[in-house]
Amino acid sequence: MLFPIVTAIASSILIKGGTVVDGSGKPGQLADVRIQSGKIVKVGRLTALPDETVVFARGKVVCPGFVDAHSHADGALDKLESQVRQGITTAVVGQDGSSDVSGLIEVFHKGPPCINFASFSGHGTCREAAMGADFARRATGPEIAKMSGLVKKDMGLGALGLSSGLEYDPGHYATTDELVEVARATTTNGGMYISHVRDEGNGAMASFREVLEISRRAKVPAQVSHIKLATAKVWGLSKKSLKELETSGSKVTLDVYPYTYWQSTVTALTVSRDFDNPETWRLALADIGGAKNVRVTKYVPDPTWQGKTLQQIAELTGKPAPDLIVEMVKNTSGQRGQESILCQAMREDDLINFIRSKQSMFCSDGQGGGSHPRSAGSFPRVFAEYVRKNQVLTLQEAVRKMTSFPCQIFGFKWRGLIKSGYFADVVVFDPKTIQDNSSPNDPTKMATGVSEVLVSGKFVVRAGRFLGGGQGKFLRRN
Ligand SMILES: [Zn+2]
Repeated sequence: MLFPIVTAIASSILIKGGTVVDGSGKPGQLADVRIQSGKIVKVGRLTALPDETVVFARGKVVCPGFVDAHSHADGALDKLESQVRQGITTAVVGQDGSSDVSGLIEVFHKGPPCINFASFSGHGTCREAAMGADFARRATGPEIAKMSGLVKKDMGLGALGLSSGLEYDPGHYATTDELVEVARATTTNGGMYISHVRDEGNGAMASFREVLEISRRAKVPAQVSHIKLATAKVWGLSKKSLKELETSGSKVTLDVYPYTYWQSTVTALTVSRDFDNPETWRLALADIGGAKNVRVTKYVPDPTWQGKTLQQIAELTGKPAPDLIVEMVKNTSGQRGQESILCQAMREDDLINFIRSKQSMFCSDGQGGGSHPRSAGSFPRVFAEYVRKNQVLTLQEAVRKMTSFPCQIFGFKWRGLIKSGYFADVVVFDPKTIQDNSSPNDPTKMATGVSEVLVSGKFVVRAGRFLGGGQGKFLRRN
């Protein structure tokens, strides 16, 4: 009978010869990194120990794992490879006002996924629980109290704060006062407020100001989710809006995905609820530069529309584009996931200003199998497009925005730096070749250039091979 060899010290991993970009924003330095029992135990010039697993990283960057600040990865836990191959080791979910904190914890009890998750408490979810189907109105005092109670419960479970999705039902009908009141429920646990704002188009400036107001009145830090200026009327206002956010006196941060087109339900084209009126859609299409800028990525009632722009569908069917949208909404209303569009609606110079802001971090706003290329490409795209090609950011600044900065804002202690004593969420990638490969025509094509990913000291990707595993943790604030 064979007995396993038991050693006193768990075997260690040595990442040797790489350039350590430690996540603090400091330039990279040649150093070796030793990992043992889930932690980084030593950084410096190190000699391999007998029986140590050695990863040779010459010419590569060794940095902390990336934090996806606005993720929907919990919607496809069986498809995490596309997230991991970007170097993401922590996904922050419960976004846009929709959450299931206890359900997510249950997932971790049953069998943890291969990356870490953390979650916000969703305002929309709590609003639905308090008001049911009768949500298209102001909430009463007792209803707001019920929402606050539910948020407090989530905070007790480890939620990071309150998320809202004010462009969607039922969050759309919440007043600023309601949001202030519910956001206050996060303060006892040091929480924050994060928001998909009321209007990312014509009303963007007023929407950012609402975030500031909620932050100020509720006395909580706040974050604007996937910030964008998505109609012609607000193009070019990135510097002005950043100045307001940065000088407001409130602690306000933002996250951004590196693309100039968004994806959502077709109803996100307007903040109006006058969906049956073609004039609503005529105005909305004019705002984003016309029907050629809208591509249908999903339409269950007629899959032949998928992959075509509204302009192409209008030409094929002989129906005006606004009428087509009326038809889409009618045929899918009340059923989630029946339709989806990609909308080319942002300007590159605005995107670059948001990427450059000291207050911004990155997000994918995606999940495995998502039909926007951001789901599979966001983080490598920052390095390929905005570090290597256009030099919008230095490598170390891009890494800081993906690691220590979000860890600090979300309260993930002992993560986000390559430093002894820190949890070994580590990524090794080649800065010369890291590349997003997803596109609107092939949105799920995986990124390349990340050779190793470790979560709590265990390989999820090794020598370019995806291994998966169950090493992820549910991260609570602090
Ligand atoms: Zn959103």
